[in-house]
Amino acid sequence: MSFVEPGSPGDLTRDVQSGFSTVFGRDPAVVGRAPGRVNLIGEHTDYNAGLCLPLALPHATYAAVAPREDDRVRIASRQVDQPWEGRLGALGGDSVSGWAAYVAGVLWALREAGHEVPGLDVYVDGTVPLGAGLSSSAALECSVAVAVAELLGLQDTPELRRDLVEACMRAETEVAGAPTGGMDQTVAMLAEAGAALLIDFADHTTRAVPLALEEAGLGLLVTDTRVSHALVDGGYAARRRDCEQAASELGLSSLRQADLTMLDRLDDERIRRRARHIVTEIDRVADTVSAVEAGDWPEVARHFLASHVSMRDDFEISCPELDTVVQTAVEAGALGSRMTGGGFGGSAISLVPLERLDAVVRAVDAAFVAASFRAPAHLRADPSSAAGLVQPARPTSR
Ligand code: ADP
Ligand code: MG
Repeated sequence: MSFVEPGSPGDLTRDVQSGFSTVFGRDPAVVGRAPGRVNLIGEHTDYNAGLCLPLALPHATYAAVAPREDDRVRIASRQVDQPWEGRLGALGGDSVSGWAAYVAGVLWALREAGHEVPGLDVYVDGTVPLGAGLSSSAALECSVAVAVAELLGLQDTPELRRDLVEACMRAETEVAGAPTGGMDQTVAMLAEAGAALLIDFADHTTRAVPLALEEAGLGLLVTDTRVSHALVDGGYAARRRDCEQAASELGLSSLRQADLTMLDRLDDERIRRRARHIVTEIDRVADTVSAVEAGDWPEVARHFLASHVSMRDDFEISCPELDTVVQTAVEAGALGSRMTGGGFGGSAISLVPLERLDAVVRAVDAAFVAASFRAPAHLRADPSSAAGLVQPARPTSR
């Protein structure tokens, strides 16, 4: 059984500071932290002006940063052995490739927004699994953004957080070249501990939805299928195009304005199914919020399962590994389960009575062995807090 622990913030802060010192031969000035996320429900709704309901994971990325006297930028990570070095003027466009583009992109976007970002040394480390659909990319961007904002002396206000969301989104789309609808950066910057974050992409408002899971004797189990979802590949973009086509054929600015009866006007059967997923998924998010607020967890679980079926059959973004997790988890005692994230691999989320957690994990592991799938990894998704600075531990050198 493979469980990914979130790690203690104290230990992780010390790790990223000592990593920074080893690579750059001095101490960092600030350390930023930003969480990964898992979406309870509401998939592919963000770019359709819809609703989604993610929460911040206890698993986070830490970025240690120090300013330089010159215009150089050096970027290194404990997770990827591929440091990058360049000049402040060459942070955007095609001048950076690979993982460092997520970091360089944030610095570029902050400069585009008019901030005087100096030359920097940046070192990152953390416990968010990479490429598992748990948004290590936004965790990376946001950890760097909050650290650099502190160096720039910017005051931590809701407005600043929204500006940083914007900068991180620009980094991911315009520099890293991965399309993103904004859910990941929004929850990383605005989540509250103990709650999910209802995001309405029609007007970009957010509202915390407290999750009284422990009181109900429930836990959220995330299972990483370890099937790479590679968002930069074509599946995501193709779904996005289908949704745009549906909205345009219906004469709507987005599918948020559509209802089920309208969809009969769509001639193409595939486009109709894509739109049906979006329309029903947005309703399911609203209904899930009501059920959570009423403490009706079996109803939440029903929405999980309906959401999974919609993504499997109408939106066609599931895969055999995800379907296996969902089916096995429910057979082993989960109330509900669904694939989560952009799809084509990545993770599933299950709502599980605490006393059934071990049994569910074991059953999923056994089902993966039986199907000759790669062993999955599991983690507990206890709703955690948004990005912020961490108190630097005592200097590592004196
Ligand atoms: P997800 O966001 O679901 O984890 P993405 O494909 O959007 O998947 O982003 C994963 C990519 O983000 C990695 O392949 C890597 O390029 C980059 N990344 C994320 N976290 C780190 C890290 N700690 N160190 C280096 N690169 C990272
Ligand atoms: Mg990502």
